[in-house]
Amino acid sequence: MITIEKAYQIVLEKAYLLNTEKVHFIDSVGRILAEDVMSDIDMPPFDKSAMDGYACRRADIDNVLEIIEVIPAGKTPQKEIGPNQCAKIMTGAPIPKGADFVAMVEYSEETDGKFVKILKVSLRNNISYKGEDVKTGQVVLKKGIKIEPQHIAVFASVGYTNVLVIKQPKVAIISTGDELVEPHLKPAISQIRNSNGYQLISQVKACGAVPFYIGIADDTPEDTFDKVSKALSENDMVLLTGGVSMGSFDFVPEVLKKAGVEILFDSIAVTPGKPTTFGIAGKKFCFGLPGNPVSSFVQFDLLVKPLIYKLMGYDFNALDIQMPMGIEFKRKKSDRKAFVPVFIKDGEVFPVEYHGSAHIHAMTFAQGIISFPIGVDTLLKGETVHVRQI
Ligand code: AMP
Ligand code: MG
Repeated sequence: MITIEKAYQIVLEKAYLLNTEKVHFIDSVGRILAEDVMSDIDMPPFDKSAMDGYACRRADIDNVLEIIEVIPAGKTPQKEIGPNQCAKIMTGAPIPKGADFVAMVEYSEETDGKFVKILKVSLRNNISYKGEDVKTGQVVLKKGIKIEPQHIAVFASVGYTNVLVIKQPKVAIISTGDELVEPHLKPAISQIRNSNGYQLISQVKACGAVPFYIGIADDTPEDTFDKVSKALSENDMVLLTGGVSMGSFDFVPEVLKKAGVEILFDSIAVTPGKPTTFGIAGKKFCFGLPGNPVSSFVQFDLLVKPLIYKLMGYDFNALDIQMPMGIEFKRKKSDRKAFVPVFIKDGEVFPVEYHGSAHIHAMTFAQGIISFPIGVDTLLKGETVHVRQI
């Protein structure tokens, strides 16, 4: 049995970087950027008005000003502003020559559309200067970021419409268990619905990889082998759930070996998820995740997700917030590191009602997980704990 920290290290040290591909920028959300992106223009591209108002000389603000032009956004000013003159200007329009100030329309009084008196003067000039946000050639987005909607706006503003991203790992998913039926069916007595398969599909998608659902393997070495072989030949990674514990029908580790997978660990001093198994076959990865849905969920989060991200060149670190416990919380044994689903209320951490690793419904109330280190059986009220966001 190894620690979860060691398991994490073993998994991540096997990662390599996948190749790149180009995608259209609007399809790039969730992908990992594979090159630095530079701006081909200054931003703003010209001195522009930050307000609707009157562009004039600050020296003239106490005088009645003559309006010599109206400048809408998108139009080039035709005239130069002289003493006691101004141009009525819209937000985003270029500042005319001679002006060094924009008086806000809200604090001005216009007469006949020809003259204006400024009633209140702000300290700011209300001008956004050419290049003050970004200069031509400046790196606006760095390689390795996970692309979010706000990055799409930056791509658009610098004209970067074909985005170089890292390819997405193809991840096959196999559920094992004779007791499983697919979700659209009503389970007969002694059957349960396959929740892991769909939870895993969603977890894989959420970290930007491409899931391929293979199906439910019977609890026989033959069917498991067939499905594992097919999955391995067509994908970068294979995730199985169930069949890794000590039962008489838990064939996954032996089948993985037969399929050419070198097992690097098959047991972790952690709960939930002790029998989590990991191996490699050439450049392919294989996880035998436990059958209980909470174990599968947590082990995906702790081990599979960081590997998927690393294959795509993304340095993933779960958000980790330190907060005090809202109550004292005890556990019976302390020989393994334990992860516990929690919620946060009024700045304090509380465990959710949780009956064990089959209780997937409990996770719907959890905002994060906390851990008991090995050897620790009590978390005191007020003690600071690390809440890992899930
Ligand atoms: P196993 O590791 O195969 O012994 O499974 C452990 C527990 O998880 C058993 O109670 C299984 O019925 C349950 N289980 C296994 N696979 C799934 C699945 N795909 N969805 C929901 N529960 C599962
Ligand atoms: Mg099973």
